[in-house]
Order: sequence, then C-alpha cells, then structure tokens
Amino acid sequence: MSPLSATMDAASEFRAAGTDISERRRSGVSRGPIVDLAAISGTIEWAADGSARIGAFTTIAAIAADARIRDAYPGIAAAAQGLATPQIRHLATLGGNLAQRSRCWYFRNPQIDCLKKGGSDCPARSGNHLYHAAFDLGPCVAPHPSTMAMALLAYDATVATDRRNRLSIPDLLGDGGNGAADHLLAPGEKIEAIALPLPQASERAHYKRAISRTYAEWPLVEICARAVLSGGTFRNVRIAAGGIAPVPLRLTACEAALEGKPATAEIVAQAAQLATSGAKPLPMTGYKLELMVGLVRDVVEGLAK
Ligand SMILES: Cc1cc2nc3c(=O)[nH]c(=O)nc-3n(C[C@H](O)[C@H](O)[C@H](O)COP(=O)(O)OP(=O)(O)OC[C@H]3O[C@@H](n4cnc5c(N)ncnc54)[C@H](O)[C@@H]3O)c2cc1C
Repeated sequence: MSPLSATMDAASEFRAAGTDISERRRSGVSRGPIVDLAAISGTIEWAADGSARIGAFTTIAAIAADARIRDAYPGIAAAAQGLATPQIRHLATLGGNLAQRSRCWYFRNPQIDCLKKGGSDCPARSGNHLYHAAFDLGPCVAPHPSTMAMALLAYDATVATDRRNRLSIPDLLGDGGNGAADHLLAPGEKIEAIALPLPQASERAHYKRAISRTYAEWPLVEICARAVLSGGTFRNVRIAAGGIAPVPLRLTACEAALEGKPATAEIVAQAAQLATSGAKPLPMTGYKLELMVGLVRDVVEGLAK
C-alpha cells in the first residue's frame, strides 16, 4: 500500500484519465481531494502459460486494439471496442472504467440527494427510471455503468489492488444490495491490474449491446458470452449481462440450458428465454427484458457460427 493511498479519506478520489471524475467535479458532485494516478502500470503482460495481466492504467483503446487480446480474449476486446466513443476510449483506463461512478441522472444532479450521496432514498425508483434496472436487487435502481466489468465477469477475471489480490468482479462490485456505493474498494484502495485466466482451446466469444442511439451512449442492455464448441455441442458456457442491474450479472439459467447441448437454433432460442430468470422490472424498464432475450439469442447464435 502506498503511503498516499493509506492516508486518503472517504471524500478523496483518484483521477486516472478523468473522463468520469472531471464531469463530477465540474457539476460539484465530487468535492474531495484528488490524487492523480500517473505512475501506475498501463501495460499488458503475458505469462508463460499464455494468460494476460492487464495493468489498471491501460487504456480501453489499447485493449481493443491489442492483437493478442483480440485473439485470446475476443469478448474483452469487443466490449472495449463497443463502449463510449473513440475519444473516450483513447483516454479512459481499465481501472477507471471499473471504479467509475453511476451515470444515473439523479446521482449526477448536484441539486438532488440520493443513496449514493448520503441521502435516504433512491429518487429514480419513484421518478424517471427509463434507463435503469430491470433486475431490482437493492435500494438503488441505477444500472452499473461498467462495460468492462460485465465482460470481465464473463471471463472469471480477478482484480489486484494495492491491498488485496484476486478479487472476483462480485468481490469488487458486490451483489447489488449496497445502494450507497458503485464498488467495494476501501477509501484510497487502488486497482493495480486485472488478471485473465488462460483461454480454453477453441474458445469463442461474442459481445453485443442494445442502445437508444447509435453513438456516445451507455447500453440499455449488453451481453458478453463465451463457450467452447466441441463437436457442435456447447461446453463451458459463460454469459454476462450489463445495463440491467446495479451490478453486472451472470445469466446462469441460460448457461445451464446450453451446457452440453447441441448448438441448434431451437436450443439457443429456448435458452435465451431464460435470460430474464429472476428479473424484477420497474414500471418503466420491462422493455429491457424483451431486448435481453433477443440479444442473448443473437450473441449465442454468434458463438455457434
Ligand atoms: C458519452 C460517453 C459514453 C460512455 N459509454 C460507456 C459505456 O458504454 N460503457 C462504459 O463502461 N463506460 C462508458 N463511459 C464511461 C467511460 O468509460 C468512463 O468514464 C471511463 O472508463 C473512466 O475511466 P477514467 O480512466 O477516465 O477514470 P477517471 O474518471 O479518472 O476515474 C473514475 C473513477 O474511478 C476511480 N479510479 C480510477 N482509477 C482507479 C484505480 N486504478 N483504482 C481505484 N480507483 C480508480 C476514480 O477515483 C474515480 O472515482 C462513457 C462515457 C461517456 C462520456
């Protein structure tokens, strides 16, 4: 642990590329001291076994463009290539993407209190929540904003900080029950790197998002899926979804419905219907469930092509 991060209090924040925090500073939503992260690793290292460790300061554009990442972890590269805009991807870091704060319009409005700003309720729940959760898992109904966290969940990636090693994405982000926070890092705890497991032989992956406009927007729903197709049969299926809950979710019912089954259109369509298992939509977010089913079907069909 660096002496600086050890002394940071709850109001202090790191600034990596600043594409999230700078906007919150401008509006007055973030007011504490800032610690600039300049010296932390932005490189991608490869172990002898062929697995990657991505430094927290690596830009999203560098991840999307890295030929070896595209080959070994195509779902990670596609998710990186699909998020935000070329300008944001060029600056934004992987650590900042995972630790970015909610994009809920009530949270971002300095005039409105909410659970994430020490308030006692979630104004989106009784207000305008058109782009919010369809899996109502906790007191705050804002969807988690990190596309990379969703893709890393599909890859069983682990996060190393300056205080802890091998945090899973649920260890880092929680289960959605904590309305006050977007992640479970302690004040001053710094993400240092993300470790990806060794890719499996013949593994395939696919990523897609549904968006409300074609440019510069967070997804309404996004899906990353990976699987091995062995003799036309799905094995080791992982499907993660973002944009639909306070944390990215694994779609375990879909995974189980595909595991060991032949990659036929009928099996894929049946499994996709299970994408919404456990969903609890809000009055305005039921439309996301239909989008999810269609997106899961498209993404899994993409795996089988
Ligand atoms: C138009 C637009 C569209 C966007 N669409 C998407 C999208 O589809 N998907 C998506 O995921 N994002 C999207 N974003 C958000 C963007 O990806 C994030 O702003 C960016 O990833 C944040 O990275 P940064 O390096 O700029 O972080 P910063 O703004 O520097 O920091 C963000 C937060 O992370 C913390 N932090 C930064 N680095 C670390 C670290 N190493 N350890 C611990 N804490 C750290 C900071 O304290 C701060 O609270 C979009 C942004 C815009 C403007």
